[in-house]
Amino acid sequence: MRFETIAVHAGIAADPHTGDVAPPIHLSTTFARDAQGEPLGGHTYIRESNPTQTSLESVLPELEGGDGSAVFASGMAAGIAVFQAIEPGSHVLLPDDVYHGFRAAAKEFMPNWGLTPEFVAMDDLDQLKKAIRPNTRLVWIESPSNPLLKIVDLRQAIGIAHEAGALAVVDSTFATPVLQRPLDFGADIVMHATTKYFGGHSDVQGGALIFRKKDSTYDRIRRVQNILGAVSSPFNSWLVLRGIRTMAVRVRAQAASAMTVARALEKHAGVSVVHYPGLESHPGHAIARQQMSGFGAMMSFRVRAGREAALNVVARSRVFTRATSLGGVESLIEHRATSEGPHSTTPQDLIRLSIGLEHVDDLVEDLDQALQ
Ligand SMILES: *Cc1c(COP(=O)(O)O)cnc(C)c1O
Repeated sequence: MRFETIAVHAGIAADPHTGDVAPPIHLSTTFARDAQGEPLGGHTYIRESNPTQTSLESVLPELEGGDGSAVFASGMAAGIAVFQAIEPGSHVLLPDDVYHGFRAAAKEFMPNWGLTPEFVAMDDLDQLKKAIRPNTRLVWIESPSNPLLKIVDLRQAIGIAHEAGALAVVDSTFATPVLQRPLDFGADIVMHATTKYFGGHSDVQGGALIFRKKDSTYDRIRRVQNILGAVSSPFNSWLVLRGIRTMAVRVRAQAASAMTVARALEKHAGVSVVHYPGLESHPGHAIARQQMSGFGAMMSFRVRAGREAALNVVARSRVFTRATSLGGVESLIEHRATSEGPHSTTPQDLIRLSIGLEHVDDLVEDLDQALQ
């Protein structure tokens, strides 16, 4: 079956007792055992597993072409579970423009866990090859990246990781499985901040890891999930599951609008550069075309007149909401360096957009009047 059909039907079976078509939310924290001590429904305690979490975890591998999945309380918790499962003494590579939470984690926490993190420009495969060390155990890839929308050649980067005996993990949050399936290119794990497009309505936080194989890495990460405890709650699991049903139409509509907005910005005299992989001018366009079925709904652009002008554009937008995050039905605008804080390496004239589901003409007109 095609993606849309799987996304609508996966994990859904009408309840034989009630006839429910929409799945229930199971809030129980503890689960009964029979007289022999066997769990009646396969669950024992909420942090280990619960029926709503298990439903979500059964649907995700169908979307990504994986063998198993684990869901977490946030995207960060999901990603960090991978690092927490890596042997101390390991060298780990991250993109130089990695999501800022992982950058902070690499600097402030990973050394305490015995890891040696290093940042590398992963869109340059020669640099990635040179950065590999004998003890490199993880190559963390993000494509498209945040906030510059850099594209990493997934097949090549994953190949380099595997040649070194390292795990290849892809943060595919910006793309979603609607547009990109990293496991098909050999990735061991794909990560999503389900807070974004999976939830889709800016009202739930969550994270997910989807595994190509249920191997010893999967077992270790499961252990991190249910012992360290950053597991997805039943209600959040349910909201993410609900978001999945409409994700394909939302993401395709948002990506189509993003293309229109990017083309309008590219022509605008007040804009020096637009970072959107769907534009022919984008350095990663050809690779994005090969490995994605669409270019997503995230973009950033630089205001020719500099930092103050960029702040003014953000201040004057009316349809776009001034807020961080992405993937919701409402379009968002932010001065990214401000959102990232004093240690940000993002250019000061850069504005990041998350394109939502408003009429695209209203979005283009809003940006135009703000730039005027
Ligand atoms: C939001 C985001 C995360 C972190 O997810 P949280 O749910 O905020 O913890 C990680 N990676 C990318 C690319 C993101 O956009």
